[in-house]
Amino acid sequence: MILFRTIAEMREHIALARGHRLTIGLVPTMGALHEGHGALMRRAREETGYVVVTIFVNPTQFNRPDDFEKYPRDLATDLAFCERLGVDAVFSPDAKEMYPAGLHQETPVASVEVAGVSSRLEGEFRPGHFRGVATVVAKLFNIVPADRAYFGEKDAQQLAVIQKMVTDLNFPVTIVPVPTVREPDGLAMSSRNQRLTPDQRRIAPALYKALCEAAKSIRGGDDTASATRAGLRALAAMPEIRVEYLEVVDPATFQPIAQDDQNIGDVRIVAAVWLGDVRLIDNLPVSIR
Ligand code: AMP
Repeated sequence: MILFRTIAEMREHIALARGHRLTIGLVPTMGALHEGHGALMRRAREETGYVVVTIFVNPTQFNRPDDFEKYPRDLATDLAFCERLGVDAVFSPDAKEMYPAGLHQETPVASVEVAGVSSRLEGEFRPGHFRGVATVVAKLFNIVPADRAYFGEKDAQQLAVIQKMVTDLNFPVTIVPVPTVREPDGLAMSSRNQRLTPDQRRIAPALYKALCEAAKSIRGGDDTASATRAGLRALAAMPEIRVEYLEVVDPATFQPIAQDDQNIGDVRIVAAVWLGDVRLIDNLPVSIR
């Protein structure tokens, strides 16, 4: 496994892999790797000939400076994790390498805005987040010309934003969604879980349980408003949890599902909550037939 710190070295190397006619799999991450990331890497390893993992805590997608500062970072452990999973190359640039013009708009720079799907929920509660995500992923696609790129359903709205960017802007890459990996108690794996206190960690699976309640309600034939209420009721039983949103949405557009909509097919129940100063998101896919 080789570690690259600069765009020029990464590009030069990927050109060699392409010269050998290897298909290239890309797994973008912010590090603090866990088995959720591991699932993306394993899938990439199975499906492509040359696997590149990127590790970059992207400053432009954080809307709160404290979240950026407290984000866990441990490159040595992450590199060992990648090596164990048979990754071929890790690209881990610093912020100066990715944003040579600086981060504070001293010099105006181009960015990618994905209209519509970016506007609600995560886009509303984290202003600028999806512009940061779409822009850095577009840059990574231009640095590593991958055939396939792997994204987790854990961040379902992010996945929808990237899918729309790739479709609308004709990026020649196939986006591969990978199902959410959970802890045995249901909590979705996340780098931010490290920041939960032992008490908060015990409470955190309530988010998944609330999503399950809402899903059960939908499967039992309830309309989306009743299902939303069932999910919110489950969360209200936990005074330590502050809810930002819980909604039933269209998985591609992230627009709310109309209550009286019959035969809508696949939907996603999405939620964001705070436990102390840690923000957790999770979601569940459900089919309405
Ligand atoms: P992050 O490092 O949090 O930016 O995540 C990098 C990639 O890993 C994203 O595509 C995430 O959706 C994915 N990911 C993070 N946690 C999980 C999980 N628990 N299950 C599946 N994919 C995940």
